[in-house]
Amino acid sequence: MMKKLTITHCPICGSKKLNPVHECKDYFALGDCFMIKECESCGFRFTDEAPSEDEIGIYYKAEDYVSHSDTQKGIVNKLYHFARNMMLRKKGNMVDDIYNYNHKEGSDQKKHILDIGAGTGYFLNEMNERGWLVEGAEKSDDARVFADKHFKIELARSIADYMGTPSNMKKYDIITLWHVLEHLENLNGSLNDIRSLLKDNGNLILALPNCASYDARKYKEYWAAYDVPRHLWHFTPETVSMVASKNGFEVERIAAMPLDAFYISMLSEKYKGNKLPFVAGMLTGMSSLLRVAKDPKQASSIIYVLKKRI
Ligand SMILES: [Zn+2]
Repeated sequence: MMKKLTITHCPICGSKKLNPVHECKDYFALGDCFMIKECESCGFRFTDEAPSEDEIGIYYKAEDYVSHSDTQKGIVNKLYHFARNMMLRKKGNMVDDIYNYNHKEGSDQKKHILDIGAGTGYFLNEMNERGWLVEGAEKSDDARVFADKHFKIELARSIADYMGTPSNMKKYDIITLWHVLEHLENLNGSLNDIRSLLKDNGNLILALPNCASYDARKYKEYWAAYDVPRHLWHFTPETVSMVASKNGFEVERIAAMPLDAFYISMLSEKYKGNKLPFVAGMLTGMSSLLRVAKDPKQASSIIYVLKKRI
């Protein structure tokens, strides 16, 4: 029997009234179905009965991003590299801006960043080239070997490796989780650990899919960013504010990731059985762009900048 993550109380508000909303299929790996439930009192959504952390590995098997990172051959890979480099520059500029906003120009203090779920290390390498001292954690052995080999960045296996005693714990100016928090089994515990690793004037940056987005509401159970059972928690701007405040943070600002809607919509069209997912996905992506221009909370994915509440 597989060990399951049974949730009896809402992790945010503690309510026991948890109602089913969508039955989603794992189109990516094994084809199993999982129920998305919603808390009646606060609206938080989560994947019910997901495999526990020590058994969920088989649902990640199809992911081969290490070899993907390496090759430059072919038009798809060229596009992939172009998009990735553009995203890396965007993320790098954003982190530099957030830091400079909170620190006096010209102070030659060393800047420390911790990236949780660092993957193959591309983002930390970008930050290293921008003058940051970089550290990170990554669960995948292959990804850690890649980061070490290509960038000479030694990643830890998990956040736990950074947790010392309160007196000797190193603190960071910026901690980033790019599409990672939705994968972490211990939601409140992880945020609590992250809080103790962050300097008092530091910022936590979270990128998360938004299940209240235009595309999520359009595709319902076919919405690709439900990504069951890998995504355990399904956030909205409202529930992010609540989970932040529960764990001693507040949301300072948000930024839409407007291009994610294109990729997520194409994938969702494919899951729905559309024979022309590219065309239909592009159209939904365009509709999303128009809505997000007026209201960033409609975006398929959102970047949240959090600060400590002291
Ligand atoms: Zn709740």
